Amino acid sequence: MSEFYALLGVARDAPEAEIKKAYRKLAMEFHPDRNPAPEAEARFKEITEAYEVLRDPQKRAAYDRYGRAGVGAGGGGFGFHHVDLSEALNIFMRDFGGLGGFDSLFGGGRTRADARRGQDVRVTVKLSLADVAAGIKKTVRFKSPDRCATCQGSGATPGTKPVPCGTCGGSGEVRRAARSMFGQFVSVSPCPTCAGEGVVIQQACEVCRGEGRVRAEKTVTVEIPAGVSTNNYLTLRGQGAAGPRNGPAGDLIVMLDIKDDDRFERQGDDLIFDLPLSFSQVALGVQVKVPTPYGEEEIRVAPGTQPETIVRLRGRGLPVLGQSSKGDLIVRLHVWTPERLTGEQERLFAELAKHEGEPPKRSPGFWSKLKEALGA
Ligand SMILES: [Zn+2]
Ligand SMILES: [Zn+2]
Repeated sequence: MSEFYALLGVARDAPEAEIKKAYRKLAMEFHPDRNPAPEAEARFKEITEAYEVLRDPQKRAAYDRYGRAGVGAGGGGFGFHHVDLSEALNIFMRDFGGLGGFDSLFGGGRTRADARRGQDVRVTVKLSLADVAAGIKKTVRFKSPDRCATCQGSGATPGTKPVPCGTCGGSGEVRRAARSMFGQFVSVSPCPTCAGEGVVIQQACEVCRGEGRVRAEKTVTVEIPAGVSTNNYLTLRGQGAAGPRNGPAGDLIVMLDIKDDDRFERQGDDLIFDLPLSFSQVALGVQVKVPTPYGEEEIRVAPGTQPETIVRLRGRGLPVLGQSSKGDLIVRLHVWTPERLTGEQERLFAELAKHEGEPPKRSPGFWSKLKEALGA
């Protein structure tokens, strides 16, 4: 009876919030829009089913007491049934509002699975920060089945044609009357002879052996907009694997791998650059060059600038995805203290020490603010 708990990886006495959290984490991993692996969809349905029961105190109590039967139609209650993909997607959407934080740039959720649909293909594109700043066209090459040119995807030897399936009469479905404790019902399932296709091939194409597709290497050019982050991916509809016998093609899912740029720390659309300055530079003031994704830029540091001062270069950060605006480049000024002095430097510092005066006893900014807060 701990099956649902095990699916979500939570203890039997886990509070509701923990169940929600555990489910969300797993769902983000197995959501079919995020995970093209064929087994991910089944897993997504399973965990959603478990979640849907355990999140509801009444269903959960029934489940704890009677197991699956407790939430089943026969157990007096809640009408348990296996969730299908669209229900699972709806449940996830209802409680979590979508994939959040991990956004497909193009195209929405997938519709009903087609038995003859080709697989999704996942590729990763490496990007530099300069690519993110400017946007870039990348050519990706990957191995993926493509339509067989010999039979034009039909799977039948040229000159012959697939014929209607004798088992199902071409409908692709078989209907069976079945009896259960609730009465008689008709079950519809894909035809075992033609696997739901409605036709059978009598003479298979020799090149593809009736598959209608062959191994191939594909080249696709992907336009990556400016401002993307590692959380984004692109879905190129129909650019994945060709489906067998002219079935619809899968999607090409382009994941992004953005290389860290040692110079900057990225915070969304803003970039942070740490600029060390010597004591004389901050004391006397200085013009210095700082890097931006768009080339170097000169900033003026005023005489008497304090350590940890921030200079904000507006619009020199990264483009905001899908907009014409840009984030900022935040320059943090630090005062660098030399670790070792030459004889000459030491003499000059000693000389300076005679003239520089006493530093304030405490940092004036902090104490005046504290006094203000205390009403003094
Ligand atoms: Zn062929
Ligand atoms: Zn059939």
